Amino acid sequence: THFGFRDVPEQMKESLVKGVFSSVASSYDVMNDAMSLGIHRLWKDHYVSKLDPHGGLKCLDVAGGTGDIAMRILDHAREKYGDRETSVSMLDINPEMLEEGKKRFAKTMYHNTPQVSFHLGNAEHLEQFADNSFDLYTIAFGIRNCTHPDKVVEEAYRVLKPGGVLSVLEFSNVPNPILSQAYDLWSFNVIPALGHILASDRDSYAYLVESIRRFYKAPEFAEVIRKAGFQVAQNEPWEPLTFGIAAIHTGVKV
Ligand code: SAM
Repeated sequence: THFGFRDVPEQMKESLVKGVFSSVASSYDVMNDAMSLGIHRLWKDHYVSKLDPHGGLKCLDVAGGTGDIAMRILDHAREKYGDRETSVSMLDINPEMLEEGKKRFAKTMYHNTPQVSFHLGNAEHLEQFADNSFDLYTIAFGIRNCTHPDKVVEEAYRVLKPGGVLSVLEFSNVPNPILSQAYDLWSFNVIPALGHILASDRDSYAYLVESIRRFYKAPEFAEVIRKAGFQVAQNEPWEPLTFGIAAIHTGVKV
């Protein structure tokens, strides 16, 4: 089917997103590398080093997918601080993605420890988690797929403890007009073609590109975070990565 995501009624968006991630779950890690030339790994490494998780932190990794962020959080705390108290609750809306995550953790020392748990659920309604229960909320490349990103941010605010940190890693916008043209060529031509070749799935990857374009520009998204009640740094409301292709947005619950 060749439909534009733009034309999809809102109530269908959630099930469409589920379908996209079901159809890409198994090829997901390979495609991430191909699409980003491996750069997503560097972004994720930087994201977690910057957060510097340690000291028995209670973390919630939303839209956790196959566990790239959760694994890095636990490895960072253990390798740098010898910390085996820090824990991550991983939540994803898609059972297949969560299953891939479980399989991956099953091969690690975190398997069957209180350090990691898996939760099926929607980022917009985290009813399985109490108010004020986490020190750190992470969401990497997940919020732009949600129907109501503002609700996601409000829920993050609710489940975080006062002083807790919201950290969002997401695609952003490239302000430089020349670089932005090159980036367009890559996104609109190369990525769907790679999806076709590597995963026989042009449409899902064309959707991913479109979802990036439709997401907030960095200053708008900083405003969404502020509106939910978070304190956002004046001097660096977000950190652009690789010319702004991605960005890290941070908010502190006051
Ligand atoms: N955070 C992981 C990473 O960085 O590799 C996975 C990112 S993946 C691009 C996006 C994930 O968001 C998918 O696993 C998808 O199932 C999940 N997702 C989409 N909408 C969601 C929602 N409303 N609530 C929770 N997870 C959602």
